[in-house]
Amino acid sequence: MKKSIKDLGNLQGKKVLIRVDFNVPLKDGVITNDNRITAAIPTINYALEQGAKVVVFSHLGRVKEEADKATKSLAPVAARLAEVLGQVVKFIPTTRGEDLDEAVKSLKNGEILMFENTRFEDLDGKKESKNDEELGKYWASLGDVFVNDAFGTAHRAHASNKGIASNIGAGNSAFGFLIEKELKFIGGAVDNPVRPLVAIIGGAKVSDKIGVIENLLEKADKVIIGGGMAYTFLKATGRSIGISLCEDDKVEYASQLLEKAGDKIVLPVDTVAVKEFSNEAPSRIATDDIQEDEEGVDIGPKSVELFSEVLKDAKTVIWNGPMGVFEMPNFAKGTIGVCESIANLEDATTIIGGGDSATAAIQLGYADKFSHISTGGGASLEYLEGKILPGIESLSDK
Ligand code: AMP
Repeated sequence: MKKSIKDLGNLQGKKVLIRVDFNVPLKDGVITNDNRITAAIPTINYALEQGAKVVVFSHLGRVKEEADKATKSLAPVAARLAEVLGQVVKFIPTTRGEDLDEAVKSLKNGEILMFENTRFEDLDGKKESKNDEELGKYWASLGDVFVNDAFGTAHRAHASNKGIASNIGAGNSAFGFLIEKELKFIGGAVDNPVRPLVAIIGGAKVSDKIGVIENLLEKADKVIIGGGMAYTFLKATGRSIGISLCEDDKVEYASQLLEKAGDKIVLPVDTVAVKEFSNEAPSRIATDDIQEDEEGVDIGPKSVELFSEVLKDAKTVIWNGPMGVFEMPNFAKGTIGVCESIANLEDATTIIGGGDSATAAIQLGYADKFSHISTGGGASLEYLEGKILPGIESLSDK
């Protein structure tokens, strides 16, 4: 078991390095959604209230060339953080050097500073993203203890997570409250679920989610498959799928999974079929009769009914991926139907594993009805695959 921030003891007077995920959407320098900032507040406040000297840092987008610096500065994020916290956040527009060293040294108890986008270091041989040894050591040297609360990058071994954790000294690193919540819900659902555990997986491609499907087939009582990836499975059962999304090189694999899993896998029984990939295209509900020139863009009403029936008795639900091309309003009904069924379960732990399904639930106004919506798309997928996340694995053991 890894240490949580509460296991680091009294933080008064300590220099606490906190890696957060402030990779917020920015338009013309204005933050369009500050969820990621507010999500990190419990951890930051915990340290500040204890009288720590807090240093926060994050990546923001990808920094590939010098010109990216202008649009990828964390300065507006520091300003927003100051507003949310209601206290001064000193922003240091660099990732290393004397100014930063001095600013950290002159922090008083209960004060906070933030330094520039960690990925500015990627301009110099990808030092952040390749976990440059010297960079991790340098950042670690700025603090007494390290708290990682950036779940969104926990599946990557970067200098700003693993690099610092490996250099901060034995027993001095821990996860924050946001990662703690992710571990509790996703980890709890996969490793120790209240049963029945029903997983519902959608999205475009089988190949993107092979690891997730395999791991969840082992752990769950039922695995519902919808979205574009369902057609590869439907083809494997011998059904006609027309020109629906299909990975021909995965049909054999899907067939083996279906054989092995028996009735554990639940597939759609009808489809919204169109002849043209457009929201305005005329559509019809096809069952076993998708025509050669038709494409499935959503699950049909009978599938929503079937999936809801399977979900009805679930005590734990994990959902990842939309049931259709939900970006087009006419083909969002399947995703909405499934979202409603999960949201309305009264006695179940319901988890969304990030990405498009999280967006859908939030847009539909169901965010509060889920037990947990993961903040990390890639990280939660890897976690659902049963993979070890280096940003967490590298933290101190209890
Ligand atoms: P993923 O990132 O793998 O979760 O995939 C999400 C994408 O899958 C969304 O952009 C959907 O539009 C797309 N998608 C879902 N169902 C279908 C489908 N039946 N045909 C084509 N694309 C789909």
